[in-house]
Amino acid sequence: MPHVVCHGGSASNPEDGDAPRLASQAALDALAQGKGALEAVVLATTLLEDDSRFNAGTGSNLRFDGKTIQMDASCMTSDGSFGAVAAIELVKNPILVARAVMATPHVLLAGDGATAFARRCGFAEYDPATPAAKERLEQLISVAGPLGEWSRADLERAWNFETPIRVAIGGDTVGCVAWDGKACAVASSSGGTTLVLRGRVGDVPLPGCGLYAGASGAVAVTGDGEFIARSILAYRAHAELARGCSPEEVVAWSLGQLDEAVDVGIIVIDHTQFAAGARHQMAWHGCAT
Ligand code: ASP
Repeated sequence: MPHVVCHGGSASNPEDGDAPRLASQAALDALAQGKGALEAVVLATTLLEDDSRFNAGTGSNLRFDGKTIQMDASCMTSDGSFGAVAAIELVKNPILVARAVMATPHVLLAGDGATAFARRCGFAEYDPATPAAKERLEQLISVAGPLGEWSRADLERAWNFETPIRVAIGGDTVGCVAWDGKACAVASSSGGTTLVLRGRVGDVPLPGCGLYAGASGAVAVTGDGEFIARSILAYRAHAELARGCSPEEVVAWSLGQLDEAVDVGIIVIDHTQFAAGARHQMAWHGCAT
């Protein structure tokens, strides 16, 4: 039976679970109307990008200069098709541009080239900055600035806001996995982590790192992108599915792969089941017909 799971990012607030619920329901409805898994995950991801509570599309994190927003997005299907954009600027829905890249001979377009490609495809200029994202960065800089450092450990030591640091700087990247009865697909979109330089690219647009779809299922990972990328976590999680582990077992296995200080969350589907989990907290929803 078709099934779908959406997440709102590692450390996202479970109280914002209405968004992944609506997005996964919309994806499931699309499957019921005969659309394929790829169209369903792209639709769900677009809805989550348009929700300014999440760090993807509208509401994306600002870079260290307080002005620049650079976003990553990608999608993949179980037949090996892959399309991604990295550090794209001034577009409303990076996932739609990633979907368009899939239809080219390339797998990944980055920076100015990705933005120029988006314009050629007809995606209008759009500023995804929101007052809440600006405030988030100002809060962080007010703590990080006096320290002269910007590592996560320094921030954690100095944090003096009521909102726990994990919630304040939480990932909030979005992602979706779906099985349409014949094929799997996965999509993911992110404004990146906080306090990062211009040109920084996370795990989201890297196949096998932030996401993977293959013959055994589909996986989307969220959290500290550098750690996720170095461990090629999504590919290895899919390999666990391929050797017969259930989605629930794969979630538990994946969360154990990274150091305890690393933020990580994951959603996994195979052809019959789905599961999700995060080291801290994560808004997510799964549904099946
Ligand atoms: N993995 C994303 C990145 O590092 C962030 C996230 O998942 O929240 O860009």
